[in-house]
Amino acid sequence: MLLKRLEVSGFKSFAKKTSFDFNAAVVAIVGPNGSGKSNVAESIRFVLGEQSMKSMRSKRGEDLIWNGSNTVPRAGRASAAIIFDNTSRFLAVDFDEVSVERTVHRDGAHEYRLNGSVVRLKDIQELLAGANIGESGHHIISQGEADKILAASPADRREMLEDALGITMYQYKKGEALKKLDKTEENMRQVEALRREIAPHLRFLRRQVEKIERAEELRRAARERFHVYFKREEAYVLTARERVTQEYAKAEEELQSVLGRSTEARAQLERSSDDARSSALLTLSRDLERARAERAAAARAAARLQGEIAALSRITERATVSSVDLMALAERSEAELESLRSAPLDAVFTFVRGIFEKMRALTRDAPAERKELESRTEEYDAAVRRENELATFEARTAAELESLRERVETGRQKDRENERVLFELSAAERDVRYRLAVLESERERVRLVDEEFVRELSEVAALLGRDILEFRSLTDIPDVPREDQEREKRELQKVKIRLEEAGLMGSDDIVKEYREANERESHLEKEIADLTAASEQLTVLIRDLDAELSKRFDEGLHAINREFHRFFSLLFEGGTAALTRVREVRERRSALEDGTEESEQVIEGIDIALTIPRKRIQSLVMLSGGERALTSIALIFAMSSVNPPPFLILDETDAALDEANSKRYGDMIAALSEKSQLVVITHNRETMSRAQILYGVTMGGDGVSKVLSVKLEDAVKVAK
Ligand code: ATP
Repeated sequence: MLLKRLEVSGFKSFAKKTSFDFNAAVVAIVGPNGSGKSNVAESIRFVLGEQSMKSMRSKRGEDLIWNGSNTVPRAGRASAAIIFDNTSRFLAVDFDEVSVERTVHRDGAHEYRLNGSVVRLKDIQELLAGANIGESGHHIISQGEADKILAASPADRREMLEDALGITMYQYKKGEALKKLDKTEENMRQVEALRREIAPHLRFLRRQVEKIERAEELRRAARERFHVYFKREEAYVLTARERVTQEYAKAEEELQSVLGRSTEARAQLERSSDDARSSALLTLSRDLERARAERAAAARAAARLQGEIAALSRITERATVSSVDLMALAERSEAELESLRSAPLDAVFTFVRGIFEKMRALTRDAPAERKELESRTEEYDAAVRRENELATFEARTAAELESLRERVETGRQKDRENERVLFELSAAERDVRYRLAVLESERERVRLVDEEFVRELSEVAALLGRDILEFRSLTDIPDVPREDQEREKRELQKVKIRLEEAGLMGSDDIVKEYREANERESHLEKEIADLTAASEQLTVLIRDLDAELSKRFDEGLHAINREFHRFFSLLFEGGTAALTRVREVRERRSALEDGTEESEQVIEGIDIALTIPRKRIQSLVMLSGGERALTSIALIFAMSSVNPPPFLILDETDAALDEANSKRYGDMIAALSEKSQLVVITHNRETMSRAQILYGVTMGGDGVSKVLSVKLEDAVKVAK
């Protein structure tokens, strides 16, 4: 049995903790009027999440709590718990036994527990709905409410049927899906509104970004061109500077060499004084002339003296000189003279003079002449010597003069050569200086090109960023003629102007803002797509649910009608009963955005058509109380047999039955109990007889309901 036990405490007349074991297919609760039997059914309603106080014959939650009596004080809370046998897992929790408990406090607070753990009402409802235990309580037929379905409107009747058929879940799901669809459509409208709102700004940003992209493309292309241009320009400056520096150094070296050689040639010219050489030449000539004159004079004097000596010699020769002596002298002198053959002239003179002396010594007379002769001889010797000396001097001077003359001539030739060299050198100097001046201006030109290059570089770096300096890492840039580079320079000037016009100030912010706006737009677009997909899915789901609902309802209705007719004809011993579908058209006013609109709503409902044997019944209102009760019972049993709930509580549903029908009712109970566990509250003996467990509920003077297990016979007594 699924319903194992009911435990109530402080609930209405059950002041004390009371428990009912339901381990039987049919459990009957019997007892006198007002003893608290219906409170048992209500406690079950209460546990199952009933929210309507009215259906528990109360106004407030507090009314459910034991209110106290003369002897028993009132309780602070009311609680009821149903313990299910869940070994079959008819409840979708993994416990063999499931306890569902609800407590209400005096402050009106409710508390739900599942196996002792506090849970939400929703959790309980979902758990029970999954086991066809709906909160609408189609399985709890309260006292006097058996004909509720007869009294209900066609639309409400349909709902009751759906609940009994266990397809409320589909309705619930459809309702949820419709709510979700509404919400989804509302979200879609909001998202679309948002998209419309940001669209102009996004368009503006997109245009800006396109501009920026074009500018960026321009910059990229420009950067490439500038890279090549700067690479060439730098190479040009470096090469030109290197070349000029080298050539300049070479020219300077050349100039130094020319200047050095000029200085040398000039110094040589200065050193070779022609005047000095001329005056030396003159002096020498004069000396020579003078020496010649002097030698002539000396020769003349010698000749003169020779004459005088000859004269004097003749005088002295006349003096007596022994021939012997002379001969002896002559021999001696001759012998001596032989030894003087290679002696100098002076020695010869001296020897000769000695001979004369000796001769004079031999002479004994003419001393004066002899003296004179000696004197003249001496003078003559001096004159001859002088002449010889002068001759030597003359010869030497003449030789010197000749050599000097030669030297003068050589000097002049050298000077002429030096002058020629000097002339050539000054031409060379002029040439080198000219070249240096040209190189100087070339250097200046290269410096200006370099300056211009640096200026351009910083200008372009300001326009394109510092990575323009990466041109230095370029390799293999082919060289081009300078004119081509100059042309490129002019072209790039125009590019620079275009870049300046394109301007990229704050572009990062715009791109960032665009990216964000675009992301937002993409997000919204995706959201719309998701919402559209969700909406489509929901529409499909609703359609499917509608189809499922319709199918199940049709099948269910068909099955119920079969049973309804069977039970009805059983109870009425004939006749017919059927549930028929009706459509009610209701006008509906709905406030739309652009005003109020009226529309029609078609509501599906259920009507009951029946015929009773021997009677002409046209409508339900024409039925007697008993007939209504029988019709209700037939319908309740039909519904329960088509989709048997786990348990069914019937509170005095059999109150109006006569004996014959009580018997049939009893049979129906027995048949139904094979599908659903039944708890019947009854005063009917026949019904009691169908129960395996009987509880007697009594109320003493303290107003507290008490429960006891009773036997059938006792139960009949207790019920009275
Ligand atoms: P009947 O056979 O006439 O239908 P019953 O056995 O079904 O009677 P109930 O209607 O279940 O009786 O019980 C009603 C009794 O419960 C009343 O006597 C009422 O005083 C008592 N009762 C209801 N609410 C409370 C409460 N909050 N505190 C105390 N007693 C209460």
